[in-house]
Amino acid sequence: MKIWLDGTLRDAEGARVSVLDHGLTVGDGVFETLKAVHGQAFALTRHLDRLAVSARGLGLPEPDLDEVRRACEAVLTANPMPYGRLRITYTGGLSPLGSDRGTAGPTLVVALGEAQRLPDSTAVVTVPWVRNERGALTGLKSTSYAENVMALARAHERGASEALFGNTVGALCEGTGSNVFVVLDGALYTPPLASGCLAGITRALVAEWAGAEEAELPLDVLDRADEVFLTSTLRDVQGVHAIDGRLLPGAPGPVTAKARRIFTERAAADPDPRPAGRPAPGAG
Ligand code: PMP
Repeated sequence: MKIWLDGTLRDAEGARVSVLDHGLTVGDGVFETLKAVHGQAFALTRHLDRLAVSARGLGLPEPDLDEVRRACEAVLTANPMPYGRLRITYTGGLSPLGSDRGTAGPTLVVALGEAQRLPDSTAVVTVPWVRNERGALTGLKSTSYAENVMALARAHERGASEALFGNTVGALCEGTGSNVFVVLDGALYTPPLASGCLAGITRALVAEWAGAEEAELPLDVLDRADEVFLTSTLRDVQGVHAIDGRLLPGAPGPVTAKARRIFTERAAADPDPRPAGRPAPGAG
């Protein structure tokens, strides 16, 4: 397995980041997870854009997105596989102990692992912890994922594959690694970014392609929803068939199944769907 570390491809086994890297010592970093189908990363431009937004949010040096793109392509070419997860990690780099950043500059790692396609529905639990929708890290994909790790472990203990967070005003927020959608009276809703959720790339594409509205949703909407589904890079659109052990018969329901079908078709037709105002190089 070859990975990209600080400017070049290396054997994953020998590749080392310092034990004083700020990503390790204080969680000072940002990341992206992409899916790669037969060597092609999906929505690479959107992921690079979000990496830059997250890095800026943390005050990290501006990532060189041309280099990150080249690194992704090099890693994908060096490790052919049918279905993989590509991970970009960009940290504050070698630093003194403590919260001050060092002067060595950021660390960039791009790695690839085999992934599995996930079932079209799953069980979730809710967790008592809140995401702070007014925090400094709100909406940034930083490597400070400790709450997410704890909540996901709790989900696994309870036979589920995802945990859903509320926020400090008692509204539905997101999963530990996914966004959430609910169907009420046939209409599709997802919490707004102001809920504290990540600007999920799958969330944005599903909202655009399948027509969902943003709405602040109280947590108990989960008791009344006709359907609930999750979106993420690795889940695509995944129905929810149980919440805290309560079964939702018929999941994935018709709205979920339709959103999943539309997403799969459109994603296959355009592997790098760019946001409006971000045309392909040389286009138009
Ligand atoms: N929320 C969180 C906290 C996540 O980590 C992820 C996975 N990146 C998502 C939502 C879904 O985002 P995406 O569709 O871009 O994978």
